[in-house]
Amino acid sequence: MTDRYDVVVVGGGAAGLAAAVTLGRSLRSVLVVDAGEPRNAPAAGAHNLLGREGVPPQELLAAGRREAESYGAEVRSDRAVGARRDGDGLVVSLAEGGDVRARVLLLATGLTDVLPDVPGVRERWGADVLHCPYCHGWEVRGRRIGVLATSDNAPHQALLMRQLSDDVTLFLHSGPDLEDTEREQLVALDVRLVQGTVERLDHDDDALRAVVLADGRRFDVDAVAVAPRFVANADLYEQLGGTVSEHPFGTYVSSSPGGRTDLPDVWVAGNATDLAAMVGGAATAGVLAAAGINGDLVHADAEAAVRRRSERFDAATEARPHASLAGGRVHGLEPVGGHG
Ligand SMILES: Cc1cc2nc3c(=O)[nH]c(=O)nc-3n(C[C@H](O)[C@H](O)[C@H](O)COP(=O)(O)OP(=O)(O)OC[C@H]3O[C@@H](n4cnc5c(N)ncnc54)[C@H](O)[C@@H]3O)c2cc1C
Repeated sequence: MTDRYDVVVVGGGAAGLAAAVTLGRSLRSVLVVDAGEPRNAPAAGAHNLLGREGVPPQELLAAGRREAESYGAEVRSDRAVGARRDGDGLVVSLAEGGDVRARVLLLATGLTDVLPDVPGVRERWGADVLHCPYCHGWEVRGRRIGVLATSDNAPHQALLMRQLSDDVTLFLHSGPDLEDTEREQLVALDVRLVQGTVERLDHDDDALRAVVLADGRRFDVDAVAVAPRFVANADLYEQLGGTVSEHPFGTYVSSSPGGRTDLPDVWVAGNATDLAAMVGGAATAGVLAAAGINGDLVHADAEAAVRRRSERFDAATEARPHASLAGGRVHGLEPVGGHG
């Protein structure tokens, strides 16, 4: 037997769980399938989240799971590995075996941060190797911050870091050359510019220590900002025939503002469609997508009810052909749209 739900939500981060709460509160049957690897897992706290400022990410999601379950949503720890159409619905295959059926699929799968391939970056990612001044900037304010230039966004990132510290060094590692105005601004703000390939970040178990260049130069730092490539986790969308869209910073699943994709009955919310969404934005997107999905489903349900009703009426009319002559009333059935 394959379980069938109104909505299968793939991904139980902020977007997926917020959607599950809204769908559960709308009395929809919902399954959330979650592989348990939210993007901000390496971070100690989630910031800029009104009312829950600094909450540890896993604590927030555990609360979200409890809230979704309290409204009847089912949350399964598993990975969705396949998606296909079957009849009038969708079938999602799970890694631990078995398929589940859905009328609608909500992709809340987040994105993958593809990090620069420099030893030390991955090891300290989310601690003192960071990308977002709003997520981690306060924590490194006034410290020695390096910026690893790998894209043309690096000068902007250096300016953002300069807002937080007087001690900023931009390592011109592999990005394009600085434009004259960029160089002028950075120099005017005393940002150090260091040309050369970064070989590694030196660190121990507790902290980042230094940026080491291929030519042997070593710069002591407390934090390094990098620019990952943001790649939407879109395997299921592609399996269903979708094509991811290109963005200067990565890839994303294109959608309407409410999360409707170009595939029928497939919706998306959170970082998979909005690379810049922070936790609060991802949760809001989940709620909006859930409301859109429920809106579609109530209309589909209403149309189905009309069909069933007219089928019942036709069947009853066939059984008692003269009934239609008596004002169309048969055992309390009336033509669609009739009253009184
Ligand atoms: C290091 C770091 C620190 C951050 N700090 C902050 C911060 O302080 N404040 C803030 O607002 N934002 C912060 N962010 C951004 C924040 O992580 C995102 O805004 C948020 O995680 C997006 O939520 P989401 O639900 O879209 O995706 P995620 O939270 O990434 O959730 C996606 C979920 O889907 C699951 N999944 C993916 N594919 C499948 C599949 N096929 N089957 C089953 N499950 C699947 C994943 O395992 C994951 O659990 C930070 C990001 C990073 C990288």
